[in-house]
Amino acid sequence: MTVGIWVLGNQLWAEQAALASVAGRDVPVLLVESTQFAQDRPYHPQKLILVWSAMRHFAETLKTEGWPVTYAITDDREAALHQWIQQHHIHELRVMDPVDHPFLAWLQGLDLPCALTIVENNHFLWNTAEFETWARGRKGLLLESFYREGRRRWGVLMAGNQPEGGQWNFDKDNRQPPKGRLKPPQPRWFEPDGITQTVIEKVENLDIPTFGQATPFRWGVTRDQALQVLETFVAERLETFGPYQDAMVTGEETMWHALLSPYLNLGLLQPMEVIQRVEDAYRSGEFPLSSVEGFLRQVLGWREYMRGLYHYFGADYAQSNGFGHHHPLPDFFWTGDTPMNCLHQVIDQTQRTGYAHHIQRLMILSNFALIAGLNPQEVESWFHAAFIDAYDWVMQTNVLGMGLFADGGRLASKPYAASANYVNRMGDYCKGCRYNPKERTGENACPFNFFYWDFLHRHRGTLQAQGRMSFILKNLDKMGAEELAAIQHQAEAWYQAVEG
Ligand code: FAD
Ligand code: SF4
Repeated sequence: MTVGIWVLGNQLWAEQAALASVAGRDVPVLLVESTQFAQDRPYHPQKLILVWSAMRHFAETLKTEGWPVTYAITDDREAALHQWIQQHHIHELRVMDPVDHPFLAWLQGLDLPCALTIVENNHFLWNTAEFETWARGRKGLLLESFYREGRRRWGVLMAGNQPEGGQWNFDKDNRQPPKGRLKPPQPRWFEPDGITQTVIEKVENLDIPTFGQATPFRWGVTRDQALQVLETFVAERLETFGPYQDAMVTGEETMWHALLSPYLNLGLLQPMEVIQRVEDAYRSGEFPLSSVEGFLRQVLGWREYMRGLYHYFGADYAQSNGFGHHHPLPDFFWTGDTPMNCLHQVIDQTQRTGYAHHIQRLMILSNFALIAGLNPQEVESWFHAAFIDAYDWVMQTNVLGMGLFADGGRLASKPYAASANYVNRMGDYCKGCRYNPKERTGENACPFNFFYWDFLHRHRGTLQAQGRMSFILKNLDKMGAEELAAIQHQAEAWYQAVEG
């Protein structure tokens, strides 16, 4: 009975569960580089380069370790799979759970000439059964309780059975607005090697729609490089990660963020090794607890929580549209060509790098999409195409749940909706903008303002039920009827100008 293992493009770890499930190394292994995948949506070329170059490097590593690897380059992944199964007389195809619902459904729907075994994915700390046990029967699925459970379960940043430093959350010490001239360190980038250069040329010559620039391509593509990014984060960024976690500064595209998501999501790094490295650094006595806790909350908390909920909510979640938002995605999301400086800066940066940090994604891009009432599925599809670290499992809950509140509050306790006031406080984009962040109506009024109040007014009934919104709704009540009418008029005029 011959077993064959198909390693998917985001499962690039030598100890991934399908490879670990066999005793020896004489088992045929397949990797499929498929241009079919590249046509699912207009992906960022750097995403294609990252995934394909990392796959090619990983295939070389497996070969060196003695695995008989077939690396198929194809525009028909199903045909490539069938051919390999027949060539190697495979009786059982073993694949680690792809996590993403659409791909799993496609895989399970294939008419294969052999048995298919899906092995539980081991790139996350929580498996799906454990998450379900945690979630089932709870009134609310709050991140805070999930995160605390994770801290206890893996003994991360604990002093006995109490949280290190006597509290679970140091948010009040973090998330400061930018002060003075901040000088974040340069990210750890890499020069493309021969393999990456070949993939860059391939992607540049593909005749398919993409979004953004292929070069300069500076991401790491191997586990060794991903580990270097982790070390650089600890040495140069971790200390200041917390204070400026939410700050946005023109030209400082990464601030003190870790830039680890592309590598974690490909399997080049594992969540526990990242957590342990950062906790070890803290135990060495050099780092403030607020920054360390703020970072560990992201990896041990948010990342695992988003994946757990994605599975728990099921495939229908992708169609969530609780507010009934229907406006089409404006063209400027694809071009960056808008006078709104904050959106222009973040979209332009995403075109150049495939990356934006969390607050740029949440409080600029998805905040605007939320308050302007853009269709959630179009927005999700854009995020999925645009970002270097995007996969279905991380998109749905982040964009539909956290960013757009399209799930009616199954994930977040209130919508992340904000006016220009927030953007102006947490960054410097407003200084270079043709709009005035303080004006709600009139020629210079910032669209974040009139859309924000229009959003609150449009959804007053729904938002009333969210306890955390009552304070802000009182401010809406104080607004005069005339101003409210002017705001509605201005929002309508904007749609007409943009949508024609
Ligand atoms: P840091 O800020 O340094 O955080 C460290 C790590 O924590 C990240 O590498 C990531 O692995 C993890 N993390 C933090 N927050 C989240 C979260 N909400 N969900 C999952 N992991 C998290 N993350 C993706 O990996 N892919 C995406 O496509 C993606 N799209 C997003 C879209 C929206 C609208 C929002 C609000 C968030 C999105 N995120 C996504 C989550 C988060 O913004 C990114 O993980 C983070 O910006 C990656 O950059 P970093 O590695 O520098 O992160
Ligand atoms: Fe963005 Fe408004 Fe500030 Fe301009 S004024 S940068 S559109 S928030």
